[in-house]
Amino acid sequence: MSIFSKIIGLFKGEPIMNIHPAMNNGIQAGSDDFAGGTLTCLCSSNPVKVKVGAQTAHNHACGCTQCWKPEGAMFSQVAVVGRDALSVVENEDKLAIIDDTQAIQRYACKDCGAHMYGRIEDTGHPFHGLDFIHTELSSESGWSAPQFAAFVSSVIETGVDPDQMGAIRDRLAELGLPTYDALSPALMDAIATHTAKASGALA
Ligand SMILES: [Zn+2]
Ligand SMILES: [Zn+2]
Repeated sequence: MSIFSKIIGLFKGEPIMNIHPAMNNGIQAGSDDFAGGTLTCLCSSNPVKVKVGAQTAHNHACGCTQCWKPEGAMFSQVAVVGRDALSVVENEDKLAIIDDTQAIQRYACKDCGAHMYGRIEDTGHPFHGLDFIHTELSSESGWSAPQFAAFVSSVIETGVDPDQMGAIRDRLAELGLPTYDALSPALMDAIATHTAKASGALA
């Protein structure tokens, strides 16, 4: 979408394409010396607080149907951090696992619905040891910036008109996010390497 058609759209009262509130106005760079912060759920009283004692990695926009998305956003923003760096510091009793049949067990606030962290308990899983978090739940700035958009085609499964996909991919590219319909090549390679080592195909 050109800036011109966006402005015309605004005059017509059309909302700017809502990729994600933390990305709609451009990607904010992370800072090298950032060492973590606190995630707070959306409850106005007694919020769940999760302390994250490290910088995140592999931050990205995700279009899958499982990740938590802010109201109206097409994509989630999700990053990983070592599970040892994460601890629930307030109101842990408000957390419940959304679906314990999933590889990633997503702990969400029972009152506001925000996903506070996703954890993998299967020690054979390629991403075991990493927790998945949404850093927009933190008021600190400096978290690692989103680097790509994953599972882009999956937004159709959430109800997005397939005819919009061209404009959505264009917008993601405009934001500087390469688009993939799985994870990024680097992460897909990491998963395949893990699988190959487990099967013995690779030493
Ligand atoms: Zn809450
Ligand atoms: Zn996802």
